[in-house]
Amino acid sequence: VLIDNEVCPCDEGQNTGHLYMACCGLYHHGKQHAPDALALMRSRYSAIAKNLPDYLVQTIHRSSRHYDANPKRHRASWQQFCDQHTCAGLSIVRYQPGEAEAFVHFIATFKNGSTLIPHEEHSRFIKLNHRWLYHEAVV
Ligand SMILES: [Zn+2]
Repeated sequence: VLIDNEVCPCDEGQNTGHLYMACCGLYHHGKQHAPDALALMRSRYSAIAKNLPDYLVQTIHRSSRHYDANPKRHRASWQQFCDQHTCAGLSIVRYQPGEAEAFVHFIATFKNGSTLIPHEEHSRFIKLNHRWLYHEAVV
């Protein structure tokens, strides 16, 4: 269900007023591709909030350890991930842009009942055929 004035899940708790339909909604609905790795990262987080496993499948690089060559199983694993995670906020620690690869250090907070579970990750993104894709976490 689309609500015109819905705040984007990637903006949860930050009150900068990004509306879903003018933010990650554009990428989720194929109106445009995420213009940079940071926008892609935020839109993947929002996709978890909006229960969009297909978007998570479409925006991951084939060489990622999270990629599964079996499309059905791959989608099912992201569906399970969406089912098990309730989004409670996203904060960007650091963004290192680049031409062909970029890095985002972020803290995504999930909720289990009333318990907040922060997930901190330093992710690598790769640009392939003019589109940014998530690769995986770097250690
Ligand atoms: Zn957004």
